[in-house]
Amino acid sequence: MAATIIDGKALAVRLKENVRAEAVALPRKPGLAVVLVGDDPASRVYVNGKRRDCEECGFLSEEHALPADTTQAELLNLVKQLNGRGDIDGILVQLPLPKGLNEKEVLLAIDPAKDVDCFHPFNVGRLAIGEPVFQPCTPGGVMEMLREYHIDPAGKRCVVLGRSNIVGKPMGMLLLHANGTVVTCHSKTPDMAQLAASADILVSAVGKTGLVTGDMVKEGAVVIDVAMNRNGLGKLCGDVCYEEAAAKASYITPVPGGVGPMTRGMLMKNTLTAAKLHQGG
Ligand code: NAP
Repeated sequence: MAATIIDGKALAVRLKENVRAEAVALPRKPGLAVVLVGDDPASRVYVNGKRRDCEECGFLSEEHALPADTTQAELLNLVKQLNGRGDIDGILVQLPLPKGLNEKEVLLAIDPAKDVDCFHPFNVGRLAIGEPVFQPCTPGGVMEMLREYHIDPAGKRCVVLGRSNIVGKPMGMLLLHANGTVVTCHSKTPDMAQLAASADILVSAVGKTGLVTGDMVKEGAVVIDVAMNRNGLGKLCGDVCYEEAAAKASYITPVPGGVGPMTRGMLMKNTLTAAKLHQGG
């Protein structure tokens, strides 16, 4: 049986329409400030995408493009100003920061109530105890996809490949909170292929093209490919050998058009959540 393709692009459009409908009912527009330091081309593309998302959702969007030689003190000072602004609900500092800037210190400086990326240790802690204020955008987007396609992780074996702080770890936590039985694999996992092949829900977030081959996919598994890699031809692709996996999976996400758009949608949802909190909603 051919796998059902999980259409992240279409789901993200719906998600943003819902966000917009709630946003226009608030006394004040939700406001998102995006801080970009330096001129990394990939970061610029992401920031432009976030601006468009804000327009679609009817948000106030503000961009702070700083030169690559910005000092730590200058960046911290900007974050402090944005923390104090009544019209800004969410603050996003685009990562990676140029060498010489201390990312941890900058993320720690963001007011947790405006930390719409859900990177601040306060919000990570809330997530760990199952009481998140914000959903981490990429794993949160994956959970939305599962919900929309009526895929319930409860009682399922969920295998997550990758343990980064922004994807793998929070992904495992969200699946665990949804009553999945979670196994997290990483570069030191010796039997990753076997573990992957036992998964009812397999999430790959490693960043290695061709990592997940057909033999690592159980018949009828749900396959979520978080990765955004470039293949030899410069084309965007994931970790999963798509055709091989799709031949065995029940559901699968494409790259592009899968997790990526949902990540952006979740950022809008988190900014709306922050705006509601700040406006007493
Ligand atoms: P990362 O910080 O580089 O983490 C990669 C993880 O993969 C690490 O935990 C690493 O293990 C593990 N790993 C590396 N080689 C492995 C191997 N051979 N077998 C098993 N595990 C291995 O990357 P990330 O930021 O989490 O991103 C992962 C991928 O998702 C990238 O392709 C990125 O572009 C993509 N991404 C997509 C979105 C989206 O919106 N779709 C958002 C964020 C990221 P160790 O911890 O042992 O080193």
